[in-house]
Amino acid sequence: MPFLNRRIVPAEQASRRELLLQELGMGTGLGTRHGEALPTVRKETGAGSWLSLFETCANPGCRSGWMHLWRSRSVPVFEGGWTCSFECTGERLLSAVRRERDGHRTARENHRHRVPLGLVMLEQGWITQAQLRQALSAQKAAGTGRLGHWLVRHRAVTEAMVTRALGLQWSCPVLPLETHDAAGLTAVMPQLFVDAFGALPLRVASGPLLYLGFEQSLDPVLALAVERMTGLRVESGVVQGSLFRPTHARMLNAKFPSVELVEAISEQAAAHVLARAVERARPVASRLVRVHDCLWLRMWLRCQDGSLPEVGSMQDLVCSIAV
Ligand SMILES: [Zn+2]
Repeated sequence: MPFLNRRIVPAEQASRRELLLQELGMGTGLGTRHGEALPTVRKETGAGSWLSLFETCANPGCRSGWMHLWRSRSVPVFEGGWTCSFECTGERLLSAVRRERDGHRTARENHRHRVPLGLVMLEQGWITQAQLRQALSAQKAAGTGRLGHWLVRHRAVTEAMVTRALGLQWSCPVLPLETHDAAGLTAVMPQLFVDAFGALPLRVASGPLLYLGFEQSLDPVLALAVERMTGLRVESGVVQGSLFRPTHARMLNAKFPSVELVEAISEQAAAHVLARAVERARPVASRLVRVHDCLWLRMWLRCQDGSLPEVGSMQDLVCSIAV
């Protein structure tokens, strides 16, 4: 069957492949007459150096057979694997969507009981029982405000002591906030997450390590998702409220990477939308992680050098599934 003569492959690519096949004793003649043997040769040769020149579709259920070797594409890449067609990209995304959603159903979210903040401060000897009772009554009467706010207002403790108590309550460090490069940190996560989950990326240190600040309570689910997505180790901690709030507001006004928000009616519909985005963007790398009830797809459009990608070189898609 004169496969190559049918000009399915551009001449230049064909000649490069022919040279490789000739080196293997599989010149054009062999390649056409015994084309069916190619997958077997690939298996038998194992990790031979020439194999790296031929990518294998990462979809375990790929039905393209050896013909996909002649398809002219090296992207998109999703979770370290190249896929040969829209169908294969869709199947990989569907299995990733199911993996993330199954993890959500079986994982025990961090609902660990924590010692109430007032008791933490009482145990530390920072407040008296009378001061705690007074603050609790004021909170109840006002029907608003956190206990720490009322303790500070009654001059029982300083704001710094409330933050230290939060650190003890969450067994996490109190993170300093001196200078903050909001524009340099917008690549950490979509603006939506900074806003909805009250998170404040503080800085990236060697390690590479990302310091992630919260005002009142940590969000271990978000921290894990950021670790998985960025490859940075995340150290979460509390930041003093009066420093946190203005910095958080400034960060929300910074320029974030473009993000598409999608609502899907089923896992299949979500996978279809995600696969279409991957096929359209043709990223050199992409990954899917779950953040609470959302799925977060990040696509890197160019190879990156630094700890964080350039804002203009990636796209985010956040998808929620209605059921
Ligand atoms: Zn395939």
